[in-house]
Amino acid sequence: MDLEIIKTDCPKDLPSEHPLPFGKYFTDYMFEMDYTAGTGWHDARILPYGPLSLDPSCMVFHYAQEIFEGLKAYRHGDGSVWLFRPEDNFKRLNNSALRMSMPEVDIDFCLSALKKLVSMDSRWVPEEENASLYIRPFMIATDCALGVHASATYRLCIIMSPSGSYYKNGITPIRIGIEERDVRAVRGGTGGAKCGGNYGGSIRASEKAKLDRCDQVLWLDGVERKYIEEVGSMNIMFKIGDKLVTPELSGSVLPGITRDSILRIASSWGIPVEERKVSVDEIVAGIASGHVSEVWGTGTAAVVSPVGELFYEGKVLTVGDGSIGQLTSRLYDELTGIQWGTKPDSFGWMTAVK
Ligand SMILES: *Cc1c(COP(=O)(O)O)cnc(C)c1O
Repeated sequence: MDLEIIKTDCPKDLPSEHPLPFGKYFTDYMFEMDYTAGTGWHDARILPYGPLSLDPSCMVFHYAQEIFEGLKAYRHGDGSVWLFRPEDNFKRLNNSALRMSMPEVDIDFCLSALKKLVSMDSRWVPEEENASLYIRPFMIATDCALGVHASATYRLCIIMSPSGSYYKNGITPIRIGIEERDVRAVRGGTGGAKCGGNYGGSIRASEKAKLDRCDQVLWLDGVERKYIEEVGSMNIMFKIGDKLVTPELSGSVLPGITRDSILRIASSWGIPVEERKVSVDEIVAGIASGHVSEVWGTGTAAVVSPVGELFYEGKVLTVGDGSIGQLTSRLYDELTGIQWGTKPDSFGWMTAVK
């Protein structure tokens, strides 16, 4: 498939706000392509960033047939620009597409289009420390008609936003609230797919958690509300004794690429890794006894996010002394070192843009 390029006449000024916020500014260009049943994907194009024009009956607005991805481009010390495991994001997009009865994309084509997009917008990949270019591919159902069925037409877009460090004052532990009323996903549902619909239903709990001064919500399983699943937009990990323990991918947990990367780094260091059911009772008792000595979240935005406190049944549980744990910071340093090119990429995770 050809990739049409439409150049902008008026490149924007780079944001002067420091530190850069997350997801507020967008680059000069975006990628789009359309799908029509029977024809497949067509009209791939890179064009100036701007609004979409969609009919109000467009299916995505009514039935939430929408999926997305999130990844980052990093600028290394020599000025070169790199993507972290981008094929895995397009593979996961295709898995999400299957769950939502949406069309799969050609991973090689999308990757080459993404590289072209990033290189056209390369001045937007920040130079400031710990900042990166956040990349958001998403796919929407575009049939114009009410009535629930799989759309016959779709659009894939990629937009990009220069974003600052997730941590405004250095890496600091967060407080997460264990949600007892709402659930995010159940087995057989869409929890394993990265779809916007999963988030719509999660907002009530995160707004409530904010009132308890929590930064994020920790979700329990949707059936027994006994087992820990994941955090709002991160997977969760525990240091229990000398092991790294994380909830297994049960179908209702999102298979994070950061999660997979951290498990592989820890295994390569000889740390025993367990993917299994983790009950909230085990964690509450373990934090009290000190057996659970570190808790952290993993996700593209923050990479590794230390959890200093859990809020559960109206009580605050402090993990260790509430500060960032040794293993947590070692994992953070290793993975961000690979991403920023200051540590060897021994797993072959980085892809050069140019
Ligand atoms: C995207 C996401 C994650 C993290 O996935 P990464 O690939 O590591 O960024 C975790 N949980 C949910 C619900 C997500 O949407």
